[in-house]
Amino acid sequence: MNKPFLLIFLIFTNLISLSTYAQYVEINLVNCKISDSEQKKIEKLIAYERMFCNEIFETSENITVPVKINIYGKSKDYRIEKNKYNAPSSTGFYIPAINQAFIMKSGDFIPVALHEASHSIFQFNYKKSPKWLNEGLAEFFETLDFDSEGNLYSYPQTYRIKSIKAGIADSDTERLKKFFKIYDGTFYGHGIDDNYNTAYSIIYYFIKNKSTKALKNIIKLTAQGHDTEEAIELTYGSFDAFESNYKQFYRLHP
Ligand SMILES: [Zn+2]
Repeated sequence: MNKPFLLIFLIFTNLISLSTYAQYVEINLVNCKISDSEQKKIEKLIAYERMFCNEIFETSENITVPVKINIYGKSKDYRIEKNKYNAPSSTGFYIPAINQAFIMKSGDFIPVALHEASHSIFQFNYKKSPKWLNEGLAEFFETLDFDSEGNLYSYPQTYRIKSIKAGIADSDTERLKKFFKIYDGTFYGHGIDDNYNTAYSIIYYFIKNKSTKALKNIIKLTAQGHDTEEAIELTYGSFDAFESNYKQFYRLHP
């Protein structure tokens, strides 16, 4: 991928040998093949998702969370599952009730697999989470990759960042507050693409600013029953302080 990249700044405190947990990823291939290197890449990057979640949820239990990914080579087979579960996406989806991801093997299927698989791991840590957190992290995990020397990196989702930059130009002060109130299925309704943009932009902001401590605190507070706005107020002193930092970050972002 020849996009500009940023290195992952997170320091994984629970580093484990990457070879040990391929066994907790089950890939079920339906009328399709994936190469050995594709399979290894998926397993390895899911291992990073596990380490990342260990870090932000302050646990070491994500290593053995079962991840099951069904990959379909024929759209006819994929469509059957998609209709069965009433899933809207033509590329991939995740069903919490059975803890399985369903992926159509088209062009860039690995990021989709990384996104959907991360919902398995996330669900294990935090079931009734705000949507921005769950989808924002999944969108970030999509962007994990290795460079030609095998170093982990994450490429920025340029079109999502572009849209955030454009949105910041018009000064709707209630926009973020309104966004953080979306807890249920409405996230996937009207304005879905914009919701994904904003969710991703929040996580990207935390990671780029090395603000894992703040992110951890917000997660903890929301899990204790605070809504996101309160959790941000308690973490940053005021919501406005957070919002102006966030906006400034995107104003300066290339
Ligand atoms: Zn998702």
